[in-house]
Amino acid sequence: MSTEPVETHRHRVVVIGSGFGGLFGAKHLKRADVDVTLISKTSTHLFQPLLYQVATGILSVGEIAPATRLVLRKQKNVQVLLGDVTDIDLERRTVSSRLLNQTTRTSFDSLIVATGAQQSYFGNDRFATYAPGMKTIDDALELRGRILGAFESAELATTQELRDRLLTFVVVGAGPTGVELAGQIAELADRTLEGTFKNIDPRDARVILLEGAGAVLGPMGEKLGNKARRRLENMGVEVQLNAMVTDIDANGVTVKDKDGTVRRIESSCKVWSAGVQASPLGKMLAERSDGTETDRAGRVVVEPDLTIKGHPNVFVVGDLMSVPGVPGQAQGAIQGATYAAKQIKAGLNGQQPAERKPFKYLNKGSMATVSRFSAVCQVGKLEFGGFIAWLAWLALHLYYLIGYRSRIVTVIQWFVTFSGRSRGQMAATEQWVMARLALEAVNADEEEADELAAALGAPPGDRQGHLGSQVPLDAALGESTTTADIEDGTATEPAGGERPGKQESSRPAV
Ligand SMILES: Cc1cc2nc3c(=O)[nH]c(=O)nc-3n(C[C@H](O)[C@H](O)[C@H](O)COP(=O)(O)OP(=O)(O)OC[C@H]3O[C@@H](n4cnc5c(N)ncnc54)[C@H](O)[C@@H]3O)c2cc1C
Repeated sequence: MSTEPVETHRHRVVVIGSGFGGLFGAKHLKRADVDVTLISKTSTHLFQPLLYQVATGILSVGEIAPATRLVLRKQKNVQVLLGDVTDIDLERRTVSSRLLNQTTRTSFDSLIVATGAQQSYFGNDRFATYAPGMKTIDDALELRGRILGAFESAELATTQELRDRLLTFVVVGAGPTGVELAGQIAELADRTLEGTFKNIDPRDARVILLEGAGAVLGPMGEKLGNKARRRLENMGVEVQLNAMVTDIDANGVTVKDKDGTVRRIESSCKVWSAGVQASPLGKMLAERSDGTETDRAGRVVVEPDLTIKGHPNVFVVGDLMSVPGVPGQAQGAIQGATYAAKQIKAGLNGQQPAERKPFKYLNKGSMATVSRFSAVCQVGKLEFGGFIAWLAWLALHLYYLIGYRSRIVTVIQWFVTFSGRSRGQMAATEQWVMARLALEAVNADEEEADELAAALGAPPGDRQGHLGSQVPLDAALGESTTTADIEDGTATEPAGGERPGKQESSRPAV
């Protein structure tokens, strides 16, 4: 149990994460008499629902990921820090974050943890080598490179077998992300790329959507699921239900059907959109707070006021929290963060934690696009699909996109894409495709590095040739490691330099 210190400074709120939970948590504290420090390992607020449009060449990264410090520029009581949070000390009330070779410790009186979730391969992490997920900007750019690269390689393929494999795209998981991505790959092949190659017809591409369960968009119900499925099939997407993926390698996917049949799909380009695993900070928090548990996906089973046991000043919100009936969606994160901010403000006015009303989630519905001009939408008992649903989808996404500039550019890009055949963001580079595996290989042990090198196309025994000097990043960036403490949320120490202000100390690595 924590003890309440006497506050000699403004109440300090640390917010971890700059996604929907983190950003909305910080914004709702705008007029509060607090100092907010928002720490995130990414410098942007990423609008994940539109990542698939970056992956398929419709939008650029800038439209869906504005810099967090620019978004919060006018909020005078917030400081934005870039850093990967590696430790949360609940007793000392400090958060440690790391940026390159510097560790920064930030003190808090209240904490909002909104570090979200990442891809889960259900224990088969090596699938990630061949089938990236779609959670980050890097993922979306890598996928764009892989998708467009498959068409480019197919143009050069010397055998029909290889051409077929390169033109077979497998998307694993028929949730909203899988449905949207499969639909967009099909439209990319049929509309945008049609007529742009000499040796191949991109319309010959097969797009296969695999789902282990028996329905598309399961949580949205049978009616909408069937609607989405019919639309996908009309576009030529092969929807295969009750199809469990049991293995993935460089050249394809092994699938086990409901009747036990095991079969293989030859495919060069695979995408994983089948499961989520909460950020590791969830487990850390649970272990450090007596009696708090995590669920199967690693999400923190929070108290009715979204805090953890014994720490009424530590809120967990968004995809990291486990609350019955609250889906892992933007609305859950926004409402949870807004609630947490309200409790912090009420606490400043003397409200005791025991007086808090429990968090109540208001389900505003869910929706998914299938293709241009077609979406499915569920609001309360109302379920509808088609063009009207698509318009609703457009309006809602524009509303939640951050910043006028992003909205205007997005509208233009959508107009160009959906009214014609062109897409404005078709750039892709080899680095986008290779960088993730190359970085992993740099820090991998011998055996893993060899497998990663093989996945990168290196001949057997030639991982040095492909992976450069194998110098760990930390060593390449210099050996010194510094630590800076932030007591009042307003100052930090730049690596290798002094800055006038309230930074307390600098010492060797912890
Ligand atoms: C492809 C995709 C499509 C989606 N489509 C929809 C949709 O159509 N509708 C909908 O409602 N929801 C959708 N979602 C879900 C929605 O995006 C999430 O529910 C929402 O983003 C959760 O917000 P969050 O703040 O909890 O986490 P996130 O938005 O994931 O943000 C987590 C933040 O924490 C930071 N972070 C993580 N670990 C650390 C660390 N150790 N240290 C510091 N910072 C850290 C990250 O950099 C990030 O800024 C989609 C998600 C994905 C991936």
